[in-house]
Amino acid sequence: MQKAVNTQVFRLEIPTPFSVGAVNIFLIKGESCTLVDVGPKTREAREALRVFLKENGLTWRNIDQIFLTHQHVDHSGLVAEVAERTDAQVIAHPNAVPYIEGEETFMRHHDAFFRELYEENGVPEQLLGHVERFQKMLNMYSDPAPVHRIVRGGELLGSCGEWRIIFTPGHTQTHLALYREADGLMLSGDFLIKEISSNAFVEPPARAGEEREKPLVVYRRAMQEVKMMPVRRMLPAHGEEIEKPSELIVYRLRRQEERAEKIYGLLADGAKHVFELSALLFPSIYIKELPLTFSETLGHLDLLIEQGKVERVWSEEKNVYLYRTKEWAR
Ligand SMILES: [Zn+2]
Ligand SMILES: [Zn+2]
Repeated sequence: MQKAVNTQVFRLEIPTPFSVGAVNIFLIKGESCTLVDVGPKTREAREALRVFLKENGLTWRNIDQIFLTHQHVDHSGLVAEVAERTDAQVIAHPNAVPYIEGEETFMRHHDAFFRELYEENGVPEQLLGHVERFQKMLNMYSDPAPVHRIVRGGELLGSCGEWRIIFTPGHTQTHLALYREADGLMLSGDFLIKEISSNAFVEPPARAGEEREKPLVVYRRAMQEVKMMPVRRMLPAHGEEIEKPSELIVYRLRRQEERAEKIYGLLADGAKHVFELSALLFPSIYIKELPLTFSETLGHLDLLIEQGKVERVWSEEKNVYLYRTKEWAR
């Protein structure tokens, strides 16, 4: 029999100006009140949130905590304003803090990391400006805000002790979900989405000079771990409820393996760089959605390297990294 729960969960769908569509944020209402994500910094989000609180018999001041699943602006952009109105404690993963607080040294390291990464992986010079403009556009939808409580996963959310924070990296290396053991409900953020596969984004290492994480490899490990948990249903940050999370995880893992196979096949006639492969894999969107298609391609190449099927070599002649199958090398 299911155990009784002490908190209620309410969902609010907020429109965003991004291609992903609306974002779901959640209110956990019990002895204290927590907002799980807040939406982007737009007039629509602010107004939707105001009405939502009112409909639930709350004012801004009733919110005690703001839990951020990760730093993407569709989830966190409005946090500065909401934190100020509510005086609530902002909770996030330590490596999300420099993004949320808009730490200048880190953001410079972030931009330099991407410029170098794109350059050494064949992205043409004229597209680099496009990427920087995209980053500036994103910045319009968020304000920097202080983070008050740092969590890494494993901690309890608040006073009632009903929700546990689960580290679910991959989509970002900072991603956190919330899990209620009593009924197996997970608020899964962008960890798993029903309608679309969540991207595992390449990110700079948390500290300059360190190696970057392999996002898809990390993501797959996290999915395997969550699959072992007795999660009965998930409420994700985009789209509809996921009723059979473990089945969806199995499906996503298989699709990733298929895409990796496809890339392996594309390398059969010779070594290629990441940008070249992204054009072959995503012919209609590889320029327009460069950060996304680049991450997707590089992530699967990381996986093929991890599986021992592919290797990366530096080409002096072309000034780029090339990927080739291990058979080709022999
Ligand atoms: Zn996201
Ligand atoms: Zn999102």
